[in-house]
Amino acid sequence: MGYAVTSLCKKCMLNPDGSLKLGVEQEVVMASAEITNEDEFILKCPKGHSIETFISVSKFALLFENGLSAYNQGFYTEAFSSFYTALENFRLTFAKSFMVQDNKMDNALVNQIFKTNKNSLIIYGAFVSAYSIFFKEAPDTKTSKIRIDPQFIKIRNDVFHNGYIPTTDEVAELGHNVYSYIKRIHSAYATYNFSESEGKQIPFPKILEYQFSSEVYWLEQRGITHNDIHMGTNYEIISSDLSSMSLNSIVLEEQELESFSKLLERNRTNQETFSTYHYTK
Ligand SMILES: [Zn+2]
Repeated sequence: MGYAVTSLCKKCMLNPDGSLKLGVEQEVVMASAEITNEDEFILKCPKGHSIETFISVSKFALLFENGLSAYNQGFYTEAFSSFYTALENFRLTFAKSFMVQDNKMDNALVNQIFKTNKNSLIIYGAFVSAYSIFFKEAPDTKTSKIRIDPQFIKIRNDVFHNGYIPTTDEVAELGHNVYSYIKRIHSAYATYNFSESEGKQIPFPKILEYQFSSEVYWLEQRGITHNDIHMGTNYEIISSDLSSMSLNSIVLEEQELESFSKLLERNRTNQETFSTYHYTK
C-alpha cells in the first residue's frame, strides 16, 4: 500500500506554451505516479506522456495521512507504523529546516549529510540539538509541554521487532499524540511578521519556508523558474497541502487541536474528494 499522486496531464490538455488546447474541455486526462521517499517523480498519463514533477508537500503529512487511511480501513498495524514513521520524518525535516533556514546551510549539503546518516538515532540526535538550540529547552523530557508518551517507544519496539499487534486504542492514542506533537512544534517553529492590518505579530511556519527553499533548489538544478512551470508542459510542482493535518493553520494550544475522530472523518472526506493525492492498494 502507498500513496499515489494524480494531476491533470498538462501535455494532453495544454499547448507547449501553457495555453489550453482547443477542444480538450470534454477530455480530462489524468497523469499519476507513486509517491516515494524522494521529493521528485515522473507523472505518467495513459497516452504515454511523462512530466518531471516535484512534490512540495511535507512527507510527514503524507505519512500521517497514510496512517489515517489505514486506520479507517482497519489496517491497525500499518496505521501504527505510518504514524511512527511520520513522527521520525518530522524530526528529520525539523533538523534539516533548522540547518537551512536558521543556519543558512546549502540544501545540497544538508541533503548529503542525511543521505549518509540515515540511522534513526543519529536523526533523533540532530533533532534534539536543533530543537534545544531553537527553543532553549529539551524536547521529550518529563517536564516538556509537548512530548511523545514514553509508553509508545516500548510499543513501537514490540511492534517492529517482536511482532506485537497494537490494540486499536493504542493506535488511536499514538496517532493523536503524533498529530499533537507535530502540529504544535510545526506551529511554534515559526517566523513572526508584523501585520499592519491586524496590528500583531503573525506566525508563519519555518518548515513551510524550508519546503519552498527545497522547491527553489529543485528548479535551480534544472535551470528553470516558476514561470516555466506555469507557461510550459515539461515540469510540474504539486504544492497544495490538502492533508488532514492542515499544516497551513497554526495551533499553539492543546485545546485548539482536532480530536482523533475528527481527523479520521477529514481523511474519509479527503479520500472521496482529493484530486491531488490519494491512497492506493
Ligand atoms: Zn498526456
